[in-house]
Amino acid sequence: MSWLHANDAPPFTVEHPNGSSPYVLTCDHASRRLPSRLDRLGLSEEALETHIAWDIGAAGVAHRLADTLDAFLIMTNYSRLAIDCNRPPGSADSIVARSERTGIPGNRDVSGEEAEARAIALFHPYHDRIRAELDARRERKRSAVLLALHSFTPVYDGVERPWHASLLYGGDSRLGRVLLELLRAEPGLNIGDNEPYAVSDLTDYSIPVHGERRCVPNAGLEIRQDLIADADGQGAWAARLAPLLEQALAKLPA
Ligand SMILES: [Zn+2]
Repeated sequence: MSWLHANDAPPFTVEHPNGSSPYVLTCDHASRRLPSRLDRLGLSEEALETHIAWDIGAAGVAHRLADTLDAFLIMTNYSRLAIDCNRPPGSADSIVARSERTGIPGNRDVSGEEAEARAIALFHPYHDRIRAELDARRERKRSAVLLALHSFTPVYDGVERPWHASLLYGGDSRLGRVLLELLRAEPGLNIGDNEPYAVSDLTDYSIPVHGERRCVPNAGLEIRQDLIADADGQGAWAARLAPLLEQALAKLPA
């Protein structure tokens, strides 16, 4: 019997697989769902609704952006608490036994074998699909621009985060800097520059592996969760971002 049961969702969802936009949109933390065999990791339904399980609002923004831009979008169908699709498998934060102040009972004594099974069922299929999309574009000489969509909690460990949104980038700053300039030109917004965290090979996976190592222009865009918690906020942010993302393509240095 496979690790995911027949009535579990597939590991990821793709929207606009043949999208005409250069953008390849990813949403690593789109879902708070857990595979049935993990029995909610021993957490309450309330705990699973919070940011420890997923990036609140990110999927709603991503879905609307993909529609507006006609862009390829891939979203995980499972919570980062099962395995974080934006951390290298085997790293300390890949499967966490504690998130902020919440202990995760079902992750307390995860064996190497169990971690490997989660990676095979959830992590690798998601990243293999991103890799396949980027490979196909390279083969057909179609351009690719990788944008990873996330959301962040307004307060973490008691510290308030003042930004409405933030651009994250590492070694390849082409897209990050262009988007930073465009978003900072919007009135009334406080836009973070590699805040509340910067991209690194230890704390990230999608951008270093699919962006930097392949020389695909890339950035992460984080939006504060309270701004996109409902459909109105998600619609407003997607409507704001779509034209800026189009403008960014024209401004992108080679
Ligand atoms: Zn995230």
